[in-house]
Amino acid sequence: MANYHPADELLMQFAAGQLTNALGIQTACHLESCKQCQLKVRLYEQLGGDLIDISAPAKLEPDAKSRLLKNLQNRKDTVNRIDKSLKVTSGTDTTNSLDGLYNDQFANANQRLPKPLHRFVPDYYDNLPWTGFSKSIQSYELPFSDEKYTARFYKIAAGKELPQHTHNGNEFTLVMAGSFSDLSGDYHPGDFILADTSTHHQPRAHEKEDCICFAVMDAPLKMTGFFGRMLNPFIK
Ligand SMILES: [Zn+2]
Repeated sequence: MANYHPADELLMQFAAGQLTNALGIQTACHLESCKQCQLKVRLYEQLGGDLIDISAPAKLEPDAKSRLLKNLQNRKDTVNRIDKSLKVTSGTDTTNSLDGLYNDQFANANQRLPKPLHRFVPDYYDNLPWTGFSKSIQSYELPFSDEKYTARFYKIAAGKELPQHTHNGNEFTLVMAGSFSDLSGDYHPGDFILADTSTHHQPRAHEKEDCICFAVMDAPLKMTGFFGRMLNPFIK
């Protein structure tokens, strides 16, 4: 069970269908295993519906009214997607606005991943085409980066650490497998962590196994240690 969760504001945006692809899929992955956040999202859904009910549609500008209705529909679609993703144990879900990215050949290779990723990631972590400077730190580009956020898996080899760094923007991290720690705490699968420009850290994977993280960020990392600074020109 996760100890670190998305902020309420993020869950509200998720409930309102306002998150971009990358952040929406990442949040859906956390929700799959977090009953607490699922409940919150449902509450925000209801709250959104109530707000629309008590507003006076006659006084709304036509644009505002259609925007509200569209948001409501987005919320309903999102909840349906989560419900499906939690209920479906085999086979594939065919309703999603991202269907264009779906590839049938992935259907059976990746069943151990969270369901929101089944249609996008071709295989389990061990068999993905990881790239990187060394075996210690590797990444895999996810196919649903959007205009605001890039989405990647990072793999930190067991017992290794990322160079010391801070962030030029926001980085949302969801631990997928293994675990890591930094000065602020220990993080395990399901934990959802936000790092920003005030975060200055050096995540280290625990000894037992490689740590896989799903990272969504709106600006590149900024390396701050001596060797890390030499890497900055190469980091996108
Ligand atoms: Zn949660």
